[in-house]
Amino acid sequence: MRQMHADLHIHSPHSIAVSKNMTLENIIHTCRLKGLDILGTGDITQPDWRSYLESNLEYKNGVYTYRGMYFIVQTELEDQESIHHVILLPTIEAGELLQLQIMDKAKGVTGQYGGRPHVNVSPPEIVEMVNDVGGVCGPAHAFTPFKAIFRSNKYASLEECYGSMTKYVYFLELGLSADTNLADRMACLETLTFLSNSDAHSEGPQSLGREFNRFYIEEPSFDEIVKALRRQQGRKITLNVGLEPRLGKYPMMFCKTCRIRYKLLTKDEVTPHFQSLPLHKTLFESYIIDGDDFVYYIFNSEEQLQDFRNRVGKKEVQCVKCALENKKSVISLGVFDRIDQIADYSQPKHPDHRPPYLGIIPLVEMIRVLKRVRSVKAKSVLKTYNELIKKFGTEFSILTDKTVLTKLRMDGTDYEPLVNLIEAFHEKKIEFIPGGGGKYGEIALEEI
Ligand SMILES: [Zn+2]
Ligand SMILES: [Zn+2]
Repeated sequence: MRQMHADLHIHSPHSIAVSKNMTLENIIHTCRLKGLDILGTGDITQPDWRSYLESNLEYKNGVYTYRGMYFIVQTELEDQESIHHVILLPTIEAGELLQLQIMDKAKGVTGQYGGRPHVNVSPPEIVEMVNDVGGVCGPAHAFTPFKAIFRSNKYASLEECYGSMTKYVYFLELGLSADTNLADRMACLETLTFLSNSDAHSEGPQSLGREFNRFYIEEPSFDEIVKALRRQQGRKITLNVGLEPRLGKYPMMFCKTCRIRYKLLTKDEVTPHFQSLPLHKTLFESYIIDGDDFVYYIFNSEEQLQDFRNRVGKKEVQCVKCALENKKSVISLGVFDRIDQIADYSQPKHPDHRPPYLGIIPLVEMIRVLKRVRSVKAKSVLKTYNELIKKFGTEFSILTDKTVLTKLRMDGTDYEPLVNLIEAFHEKKIEFIPGGGGKYGEIALEEI
């Protein structure tokens, strides 16, 4: 048996808003930088992408390969409830059979942007279709405020969604803004295996492989992956690696229009920082507007806070920032609030089989913040990133391996700020500005 790193959810240029540079060549280049061994193919029911894969991937001993990288046939489908499902299949031919099954229930499957189709069937019917072609499926980015099983006003348990087909669902994908600590507050997820996948829409190191799973398997085949998801014959996932949830796009409550993030506080959480800002009052609540990024609501009791959160969940609360500009826009629950709302436990209860979750800060985000530039895609950031990988090994080893950190320290003073930042990350001393409304969270550098 061996340990292999797998990212099992990506997209091709045939899905909306995906980089044209998602070619096999570019994809596997990033996989090597990140330290990945196995990758999902993405979008397998789209015929152009499928024939591109068919003519480039080699199939041997139950495994697809491209220049030393392993591939698992994969796609994502949206059902009639607008819930997304990650789907893993045994072969490219199974992808073609699935395409034939969905053809008369979905529009534009063969079109240029048919990679992630909306299929007019229920969640249990999705499971049934996937079973029919020998695949497995589970909810994608399960807690995000859009297109997900546990979003507001949708389902609060697995059974409500999948009904009698629940027994065929072996895994759930956590999504960028959730981790094992959050998901294990729901009793219905106890028997599921959690996947941490990137859902990459571009080939850069900020996207591809930002989340992955360490599998303990005999070989990198579909059969072995399924055994690991079902935790059979010693196969399993031994580590989930994913973004620190506050760095995700949807942890916080937010306004869809102005993208301001909301945080709910009880009186005893009010620090001197908040006291320096003007307090606004409505009939029942008080709030503070902190620049363009945050609104803080302050409540006298936990009950009042929960009541407010429930009203936000029902889309009954207007954005106060938009109201200032005479615009009307309701605010929405983020991942953290939604889990608080539907959780069975206030603290996580990890089942014995649950592997650790390593919440990481992408190396490009660390470099970005040290260079004090805005984008992780900036040329200067990628230059340093590539330099580091060339000298010291994969991104994963730079972030996690203490001997690599020692080498980095010995290399000279240039890397001293980065070494300090990685050390602060190991010691869990880094402060975050949590993301929300589609805006990624960031490291708060002033705090370190
Ligand atoms: Zn999705
Ligand atoms: Zn707003």
